[in-house]
Amino acid sequence: MTSVSSALPSEARICPHCKETILKSASVCPACHHYLQFDAVRTGVSPSICPLRIEGTLRHPDREKPCEYSVVLEVCDEGGEVISRRVMNVGTIHAAEVRTFSVRVEVSSHDKPAV
Ligand SMILES: [Zn+2]
Repeated sequence: MTSVSSALPSEARICPHCKETILKSASVCPACHHYLQFDAVRTGVSPSICPLRIEGTLRHPDREKPCEYSVVLEVCDEGGEVISRRVMNVGTIHAAEVRTFSVRVEVSSHDKPAV
């Protein structure tokens, strides 16, 4: 069994509750919010902050025909190279329906271990 304290930045694992891919260092799953470990202080992982949050609402643009949507998430590096592109969800909006979409980037850092 691998110790959490040995987790390198960007090591991933599967949440045992919702099966999403999450950071190995996460103490709470960002997808389902279940607690995963109770020793985040001991592992040297700082609490996450949320420096980016975007939210928008899409209203049905046509009164008669339903329209389909795809939620595509891209992550690019400093050179504009795509690191990841995923279709997060697809669906249909019917007349008078509304969908709200939000993107949240949570950031945490590995503190240097106390000597
Ligand atoms: Zn989860």
